[in-house]
Amino acid sequence: MSDPHELKVLNPATEELIATVPAATAEDVDAAVVRAGRAQTRWAALAPADRARLLRRFADVVDAHTEELAQLEVREAGHTVGNARWEVGNARDLLLYAAGGAERLLGRQIPAPGGWDVTFQEPLGVIGVIAPWNFPLPIAAWGSFPALAAGNAVVLKPAEATPLTALRLAELALEAGLPEHVLQVLPGYGGTAGRALVDHPDVAKIVFTGSTHTGREVMERCARLVKPVTLELGGKSPSVVFADADLKAALDPFSFLDNSGQDCCARTRILVQEAVLDEARAFLADALAAVVVGDPADEKTQMGPLISGRQLERVRSYVPEDAPALRGSAPDGPGFWFPPTVLTGERHDSPAAREEIFGPVAVLLPFTDEEDAVRLANDTPYGLSGSIWTRDVGRALRVSQAVRAGNLSVNSHSSVRYWTPFGGFKQSGLGRELGPDALTAFTETKNVFISTEGPAQ
Ligand code: NDP
Repeated sequence: MSDPHELKVLNPATEELIATVPAATAEDVDAAVVRAGRAQTRWAALAPADRARLLRRFADVVDAHTEELAQLEVREAGHTVGNARWEVGNARDLLLYAAGGAERLLGRQIPAPGGWDVTFQEPLGVIGVIAPWNFPLPIAAWGSFPALAAGNAVVLKPAEATPLTALRLAELALEAGLPEHVLQVLPGYGGTAGRALVDHPDVAKIVFTGSTHTGREVMERCARLVKPVTLELGGKSPSVVFADADLKAALDPFSFLDNSGQDCCARTRILVQEAVLDEARAFLADALAAVVVGDPADEKTQMGPLISGRQLERVRSYVPEDAPALRGSAPDGPGFWFPPTVLTGERHDSPAAREEIFGPVAVLLPFTDEEDAVRLANDTPYGLSGSIWTRDVGRALRVSQAVRAGNLSVNSHSSVRYWTPFGGFKQSGLGRELGPDALTAFTETKNVFISTEGPAQ
């Protein structure tokens, strides 16, 4: 039974308690939103170039603390240290990109008879960001930095398992000179602090990343206040591998093992054309056996633990011991370890092939031809990411048009770049983060018509 007043932060690789953090109440959220509202008015009144200058300074401070933030992410989230450093760099780069956006957030002038018509992109006010535990630092950054650059204040609720990097980020923002209360971090439970943020009438927009189940509730609650919401939810992304593909690159096991598979973009449905199925199976068996699973702080480690005992139980429930599978190895406890696994005996409609497991587990499914591949790729309630592997350019274009997902890559497994839009189709979410329109998503468009007619004679 968790204590409603505090969060216990465990190192998932050792199960050791590394921190105890007070849990925000609904009253704490209310007070933070009031403070944010006052700070936002002053923040929005700054010249865009001054806001940009402060955000660039914030980026420099983040950069100077890369190792500290990365080690914190290793300890609270179990990320491998190499990945954690990349994540800090991603947050820094996004700050710089968003800072430039502050200077380029333009209105328009629209021809109108009898006057001038101009539009303004005005900040929304206070933005509530609710982040998950799988990428605590980057996802906090994606929701917050473009919002700040557009002149909003942010109240961020990190996941209960991973509040530490976000708390440090808020301290670094102050160190960089951002005004007080423009970026506030309130660790707490989803059912109390998260709900209070969603329900608060003075929170102008919610950015939520997490499960489709909770995202649905957040959207329902936002609907009561007609509050805009961005949802980045689950995924069950396909990797479609045609017989002519570069199999070694296409079957890279880190397409679904990165972050121990706790990645909404993980390519957990490996769809392979029948002609190369045996070859693919043999390749994956060797690749899984070679994955180095262990202490995430060790530079040589390729895959760390799962986030929690609860997550470990969830992953286990999809992989019975006697299930036909290719398996790597993982340490015994303490720590929440699960071996890299590819299930080979699943049907396309089984729970393991349809539901987001959020662990180092993929399913291998054969397909016959292009039409069959597209049908299987789309046979999911999700639509976040996917990869298409073929040397036939026409086929790559046809399949990427036919697959219903927000982030596809051809002959690549890459999903996230801070300068391109990110988000899902279908039950993977609503709205987009990152990319050239990231700041606009945190503004309202105001249209003003100015009459040039003189006063009536
Ligand atoms: P949730 O979606 O429940 O949590 C995400 C965030 O929402 C957390 O900060 C959480 O707080 C908060 N939250 C929870 N309930 C509410 C609520 N009613 N109102 C507002 N905020 C709320 O994910 P879980 O941590 O429970 O993970 C369960 C499963 O979700 C995973 O196994 C995985 O399949 C999926 N998931 C998907 C993610 C993705 O990026 N696609 C990310 C995380 C999880 P708290 O931490 O206190 O619960």
